[in-house]
Amino acid sequence: MKKIQSIRGMNDLLPDESPVWQYLEKTVSELLARYGYREIRFPILEPTELFKRSIGEVTDIVEKEMYTFDDRNGDSVTLRPEGTAGCVRACEQHGLTFNQVQRLWYQGPMFRYERPQKGRLRQFHQIGIEVFGLEGPDIDAEQLVMIWRLWQQLGIDQVVTLEVNSLGTVESRGRYRDALVEFLESRKELLDEDSQRRLYSNPMRILDSKNPETQKLLDGAPQLADFLEDESRQHFEQLLCLLDGAGVPYRVNPRLVRGLDYYGKTVFEWVTNALGAQGTVCAGGRYDGLVEQLGGKHTPAVGFAMGVERLVLLLDAAGVVPDSIARQVDVYLLAAGDVQVQALQLGETLRSQCPQLRVLNHCGGGSFKSQMKKADRCGAQIALILGEDEAASGKVSVKFLREDKPQQTMSITETLAMLNEYDFEKGEV
Ligand code: ATP
Ligand code: MG
Repeated sequence: MKKIQSIRGMNDLLPDESPVWQYLEKTVSELLARYGYREIRFPILEPTELFKRSIGEVTDIVEKEMYTFDDRNGDSVTLRPEGTAGCVRACEQHGLTFNQVQRLWYQGPMFRYERPQKGRLRQFHQIGIEVFGLEGPDIDAEQLVMIWRLWQQLGIDQVVTLEVNSLGTVESRGRYRDALVEFLESRKELLDEDSQRRLYSNPMRILDSKNPETQKLLDGAPQLADFLEDESRQHFEQLLCLLDGAGVPYRVNPRLVRGLDYYGKTVFEWVTNALGAQGTVCAGGRYDGLVEQLGGKHTPAVGFAMGVERLVLLLDAAGVVPDSIARQVDVYLLAAGDVQVQALQLGETLRSQCPQLRVLNHCGGGSFKSQMKKADRCGAQIALILGEDEAASGKVSVKFLREDKPQQTMSITETLAMLNEYDFEKGEV
């Protein structure tokens, strides 16, 4: 019989890979807590209308990337392609946005029907944050400083670059859009098919076209920066000043636009060269109009999302994942002979008295030699051997698997004391 395979572009995360994910998730969630962010969880499935109204009808995501289907009741539902829309919906529904400041974060799977490749999947994962109720550039800067700290903590600050831009308000963007369309219309035959299609539906997206010919053409195009009204300009200048003050390096990229319609004023991306074409590891910006657009009261907002798969690839590529992450067992407990009762008891004593340790009880019998092999292979630092002699005398034999040290037989009390002192970080796997 043909075995059933996973859906294309939807990966399994295997146990050998999950420690890096856990390390990343833990590092991020602890950092976010230090900045006062609180976790929010909202459904993976939402009414299709939510994404159409927020992300925008003529964006790539809504036009061709969404997993949309009718449920049994005939209502159109969509697997979330990103987190901001659902987060805003949840906050509105529960009165969390009006007249208050919220610093929120979320994580989980997102779904987009894209062509699967390295760093681009159909089910991928994001960790995102959203802040509601603050309109000044100080919070934009705080978010960027916070991510910068994260990159430093993870050891990838040397391989990522921050690009920033300001998109201005809906009005200034509208005026710029008209000027850009006018400029490009007269050169329409020089545009590729994709950009020609976008010329009237979503002309700003042409700015981040990957086509070198198009990029060359754009050198003579009107600049968005010249169309910003005073308020956006000041907001942006202040943001850059705050970044300078905090020592966060950045590059102003006047052609940076985002693929989602709700952004205005600040937009940013952290990009890397280490992952080929899929270079954006974290992206976001300000979206002061979205809450209103979804039926709420005017609420300024700013946030970002990072792509977990791409960050994991980057951590691997940069070789900065701590060795100890790969090891998932500290102590392997061998049971040689008729000692099942005592082995089970000793395992529990270890977990009670040395709660920081990860202890694997050998189960399933087998020769001493095969048990030792398993102890070695799982990466444990120490093997505890419980044979019939040891069990009868209330002792245990201790074998140091990564150190040149003689095997010792000790009382259980001595063993517990030794284990609580032992530096499990030092030995290599
Ligand atoms: P890209 O330009 O790479 O398609 P995007 O602008 O569509 O990215 P966002 O919607 O801003 O991406 O999502 C934020 C982050 O989520 C991206 O920077 C990336 O790290 C990650 N991401 C987006 N789409 C995918 C995907 N299909 N597979 C894996 N990660 C993704
Ligand atoms: Mg995309």
